[in-house]
Amino acid sequence: MRLYWTKPELFEIDVEVETVNGCDVVVDPAIFHPNEGGQPADKGTIGPATVCSVEIRDGRIVHTLDRPLSDGKYIARVDKEHRLYTASQHTAQHILSGIAEKQFSLQTTGVHIGLDTCTVDFDKRIDWDTATAIECRAMDVVTLDLPVETAFNESDVRIRGDSKTIESDMIRVVKIGDYDKSACCGAHLKSTGQIGLIRILSLENKKEGTRVSFLAGRKALEYAQSEASVLRELRKAAGCATPELPAAFEKALKHSMELAKEVNRLWTLWLPGFVETAKIIEIEGEKVGVHLSEVPQKFSAKLAAMIAQSIDGAGIVVNERKIAVSSCRISAKEILDRIIAAVGGKGGGSPTTANGGLENDITFDQIQMILQENS
Ligand SMILES: [Zn+2]
Repeated sequence: MRLYWTKPELFEIDVEVETVNGCDVVVDPAIFHPNEGGQPADKGTIGPATVCSVEIRDGRIVHTLDRPLSDGKYIARVDKEHRLYTASQHTAQHILSGIAEKQFSLQTTGVHIGLDTCTVDFDKRIDWDTATAIECRAMDVVTLDLPVETAFNESDVRIRGDSKTIESDMIRVVKIGDYDKSACCGAHLKSTGQIGLIRILSLENKKEGTRVSFLAGRKALEYAQSEASVLRELRKAAGCATPELPAAFEKALKHSMELAKEVNRLWTLWLPGFVETAKIIEIEGEKVGVHLSEVPQKFSAKLAAMIAQSIDGAGIVVNERKIAVSSCRISAKEILDRIIAAVGGKGGGSPTTANGGLENDITFDQIQMILQENS
């Protein structure tokens, strides 16, 4: 019998240790919850040894210790803080799953109790109105401080596909008032009031269903506090109250988009000026106009084309090792290939336009030398 099923409040007890192999032992009674059903294994000590992992192997709960122990009696101590954390999250998950099923016709398809965040997967899509309603009703169950009861071999229970038992002839059932009744092999709190707080953190679409991230207990409080701290910073920056933040953020976003549009308009006005100042290289009667830096990269290709057209030749624009080439007659791709062959980098294009990235900085004199050498 697993003691953590019937006496979850026990964190210390005498156990009989039997070695399976090396540092792997089984203990009686089973006080350590193994890594099972989405709930991480308990931590703790057995006599002088630290418990490194607890897994179910061949129908037995096997504890891997940091040192071998000779068979016999030892005091087993479960890490209380760690257990209360995983048990709080797990008990909260029962409440969320039970309410979701009974009041919103949502089936639980998966559970994960993580050390930073926990998730429960529902078989249908839900929106924030539903999630908030589930959260409120879950908190009602916390406030009622209902006992978390364990029974065996009861019929008409919710059984998750990913839960398995070691005693195949016995199904352990967990009941929380009228809110949940499901087959489960995990470790729980004694009553729902011990959870304190349940918070739903995010919703994510998963295939046809929804993955709900949540936290319970002290971890939920810490999460709420960190969110409150972010809101304080935002209120300070925006100079407004919390309810006004979305409107203030939207206004700032709109303003920055208008500014970006205006900057684009100004650059478009300035581009002809850069065409005039492009330095010209002559290659066997063909003209190549070169402009280095200053123009934002998103205008490089446009400026290269404007230079090419104005001199009826080719235009090269380089900005922070990004290069754009445009050409009316000689191949833009060939020009780029020559420069890349000389200074390194990569890129590609067509006879009319090409662009790429250079491995090294490049000067006008270097471009002139490369193009005239190879022509
Ligand atoms: Zn459970």
